[in-house]
Amino acid sequence: MDDCLFCKIFKGEIPSTKVYEDENVIGFQDLYPQAKIHLLFIHKEHSKNVNEMMGNDPKQVADVFSAIKNYSEKEGLEKDGGFRVVTNLGSLAGQTVFHTHFHVLSGEQLGRFGS
Ligand code: AMP
Ligand code: ZN
Repeated sequence: MDDCLFCKIFKGEIPSTKVYEDENVIGFQDLYPQAKIHLLFIHKEHSKNVNEMMGNDPKQVADVFSAIKNYSEKEGLEKDGGFRVVTNLGSLAGQTVFHTHFHVLSGEQLGRFGS
């Protein structure tokens, strides 16, 4: 997608602080962190949200969660107290970027969510 912010990020057309990359997925720091650790994991194939991603190819969801598993084990996030994975779909959830992404939040005690 030519005009997609996160497609431009994984192609290197817009700068980001990358923390992870494999054949299918990249992870990078969120520009406006909402926790001490706030990363975004995206698939290199464009989709607008997780439902579209599942409809296109469920393996893409597994690719992203494999990347999160690899990263969180390597960086010790699991053993250091854990982390939260969030994906927003649509306006009620506050989705602002329409390239499917999974927030990974950690590094401090996280609050309750849902409001
Ligand atoms: P969402 O609200 O779930 O669509 O999440 C979009 C996320 O992208 C927000 O947490 C933003 O802070 C983040 N964001 C927006 N622009 C950039 C950027 N250029 N680099 C990194 N993160 C970004
Ligand atoms: Zn995209």
